[in-house]
Amino acid sequence: MQDNLSRKDVTVIGGGLAGMAASIHLARAGLQVLCVDASSEDNALVGESLDWSAPDLLRILGLPMERLIAEEIATYKRHLILSLGDGSTQEYVPSEWLGNSPWNVELRTLHVDRARLRVALREIVLSHGVVILSDKALDVERDGKTIIALTTLSGQRIDSRWFVDASGFAASLLSRVFKLPVCEYGPGKVAIWNYFDVPDSIEGTTLHTDRNKPSYMEWVWEIPIHPNTISVGYVSPGAAVKEKRQQGKTVDDIYREQLSRIPRFEPLLQAAKESLPLVTSFRCRVHGKVSGPNWLIVGEAASMVDPMTSNGVTAALRHAAEASHLIARHFRRGRLPVLARASYNWRVQELAKFFNSGIEKIIYDWPIRNRIGIVTAGDVYTIPAWSINALYSRIRPSGLLSTGLFSLFLASLRASAWVLDWLCRNFPGSETSLEGSTS
Ligand SMILES: Cc1cc2nc3c(=O)[nH]c(=O)nc-3n(C[C@H](O)[C@H](O)[C@H](O)COP(=O)(O)OP(=O)(O)OC[C@H]3O[C@@H](n4cnc5c(N)ncnc54)[C@H](O)[C@@H]3O)c2cc1C
Repeated sequence: MQDNLSRKDVTVIGGGLAGMAASIHLARAGLQVLCVDASSEDNALVGESLDWSAPDLLRILGLPMERLIAEEIATYKRHLILSLGDGSTQEYVPSEWLGNSPWNVELRTLHVDRARLRVALREIVLSHGVVILSDKALDVERDGKTIIALTTLSGQRIDSRWFVDASGFAASLLSRVFKLPVCEYGPGKVAIWNYFDVPDSIEGTTLHTDRNKPSYMEWVWEIPIHPNTISVGYVSPGAAVKEKRQQGKTVDDIYREQLSRIPRFEPLLQAAKESLPLVTSFRCRVHGKVSGPNWLIVGEAASMVDPMTSNGVTAALRHAAEASHLIARHFRRGRLPVLARASYNWRVQELAKFFNSGIEKIIYDWPIRNRIGIVTAGDVYTIPAWSINALYSRIRPSGLLSTGLFSLFLASLRASAWVLDWLCRNFPGSETSLEGSTS
């Protein structure tokens, strides 16, 4: 083995947001870190609209908001707009009083250009002495639940005291190896997106949908990643896209057909005739038992939250910070105590379950949305989601007691959404039952 690949304290699998964040935290804790990353230049990066808790997590990594804006890695997101196709819009802005003492909540957040963010983070990772190995982790050697070494596509055997799996949704290496339990939310979905030049863009995210009441919601995001570039993406259940493909439509046809329903995008589509959209498929899910004696899973490999929640980046950075803290704290012992593992598992699961079940029950699925209307449903989802993120960042539950109390609170909110869904499903208004049955 080459010298720079000699036995490290921690091996991080994956160099996406979660993997790079974990590498930085671990190196700062004085540990020697190897990051094995399989990404290539062709990786389609997506995930640009951040929730209000993410900027602080980026600041801790060395990327304060002001730097991200000055270096055009990010634009400000001051609000969220719901555009309903009939010309009406609803704006969601955190109330100004929250910015004042004693709350002092940061009311701005960001949209990021993921390609540029990746470059900036990678520079920080390297400046901390982390060794990055371009290779693909294939499997692990283990003794029961303890990981001994990693084997890679190029034939390397990498042994290490600790491992962090940040291999993302598609690979989810350790959850496959250990056959971890999984809870899935909603149908498999497809996202198709492209980038367009615009003369001027607004400092906010826009979600386009329509007032019609479909049984399952489809939507289009519009996100300014630069002052003059917007990302526009269409999210639909995978089955609907598959049906259109079987009718002979290309991904580009499907994308253009959807966007051309929104007058704002017609001139942009005309100007970008040659440019083909990017596509990915995903299924929202939450894994259980995302840590073992000497390993933890972070980011989308642990839980995939729906893009509409704008919580994926926050989750990835949070998991990375918490997992790294646990490794640094228990490094000499060589094993994570059972209670520390249990509370990490609990936090990762409960937060992801809260976001996924909330967005599925209140926004995507028909019973609640059609009964109270999309605009009110937007409030019913956004206010608790925003508050939970702000609260979590403030109280930072870490021990078993604080994690347990926070998780119970989240579980009670999930139960309320479940009861509301049940009531709307079983006692629908006359209008709702008709619309619900159109699926
Ligand atoms: C369509 C879509 C839109 C989204 N929009 C938003 C949004 O607006 N806001 C938001 O906050 N979040 C959004 N997200 C979620 C966000 O992109 C993710 O939560 C975040 O990127 C997760 O980062 P990660 O590091 O866990 O995974 P990834 O970014 O997927 O990184 C995984 C890394 O691991 C590497 N890898 C994979 N397998 C191996 C292997 N075997 N060996 C070594 N390396 C490996 C990959 O090459 C990659 O570099 C969106 C997601 C999707 C799918």
